[in-house]
Amino acid sequence: MENREIINIIKNDNKFSTEIANKLKAELENNGYKVSDEYNKDAVLNISVGGDGSFLRSLRINDFPDIPIIGVNTGSLGFYPELSPKDINSFVKDYCSGNYTINKLYLLQCEIFRQNTSETIFALNDIAMKGDKTKTIHLDIFIDYNHLQTISGDGVIISTPMGSSAYNYSVGGSIVYPSLNTLQLTPIAPLNSKAYRCLNSGIVVPPELHITVVPEYKYLEDVIFSVDGEEFNYERITHANFFVSKKHVNMLTLGSFNYWKVIKEKFI
Ligand code: NAP
Ligand code: MN
Repeated sequence: MENREIINIIKNDNKFSTEIANKLKAELENNGYKVSDEYNKDAVLNISVGGDGSFLRSLRINDFPDIPIIGVNTGSLGFYPELSPKDINSFVKDYCSGNYTINKLYLLQCEIFRQNTSETIFALNDIAMKGDKTKTIHLDIFIDYNHLQTISGDGVIISTPMGSSAYNYSVGGSIVYPSLNTLQLTPIAPLNSKAYRCLNSGIVVPPELHITVVPEYKYLEDVIFSVDGEEFNYERITHANFFVSKKHVNMLTLGSFNYWKVIKEKFI
C-alpha cells in the first residue's frame, strides 16, 4: 500500500519514547505513510511522543504550525497527549479510516515592549511573568487599559483555558472550560498585609480584552517570562500586552474531545 502522505514524529530523548516512536513509525509505514527523520512542513500530521512538555515544545519549536497534532503519552501526567503507547495500532487504523475530529485551540499572544522595540510570543498553556531574583516583584495590572491594581509577590500567570489546569491551578486559579475562550490572570504568592493589598484570586476575562502588565523597577532590572514552561529573560521591558490570538493549534482527537473526562482522569 503506497500513499505519499508524510507524518512527522517529534519525540523527546528518553529511551521509552524512542522505542515507542520506532514502533509508531513502523506501523505508519506499514500503512503507506512516509515518516521523515527531519521535520517536514508538508506533513499531514504531527505526532508528539513524550509528556506535556514535549507536546508543548514540539509546537513552539515549529512556530505553532497548522498541521494537526496528536500526542502519545510516555511522560508522567499527559494532559495533552491523548494516546497511550498501547493505543498505537488502533490509532493508526482510526486515522487511516478518517475516524477523528479536529479541535481548534486558540493561543495566548503576548507583545513585549522595550523602549524602541517590540516582540511577539505565543503560548498554548500560559505565560508567567516573574522577577529574576527572590525579591518581591511589583506589577501594575491593567485590564482593557483600566488600571486594576499593583500586584506584589512572585509574579502573575496569564493562562488559556487549556493551560488553566497547569501552573494556574497550582497557585489556586480556576479550571476553565476550553470553549469559553477566555484568559485568566492569577497572582503567584501575592502579598497581603497593612503595607500591601493584592488580589488573591484569578480574574477571568473575555477574549476581546487586553491584559497589560507594567513592571515597576524598584528592586530589579530583569523580568523572566516562563512561556509554556520555558524561561526567557528580558531586560528593561516597559510593558507586556496579553490577548487571545487569532492563531490556533489544530488538535486531533479520536472520537470527540471530552474535557471533563480528562480532568477527572488526570486530576480528581
Ligand atoms: P513540567 O515542570 O514537567 O510541568 C509540570 C506538570 O504540569 C507536569 O506534570 C506536566 O505534565 C503538567 N502539565 C503541563 N501542561 C498541563 C496542562 N495544560 N494541564 C495540566 N497539567 C499540565 O514542565 P512541562 O512538562 O514543560 O510543562 C510546562 C508547564 O508546566 C507550564 O506551561 C506550566 O503551566 C507548568 N508549570 C507548573 C508549575 C507548578 O505547577 N508549580 C511550575 C512551573 C511550570 P507532564 O508530566 O505530562 O509533562
Ligand atoms: Mn513535563
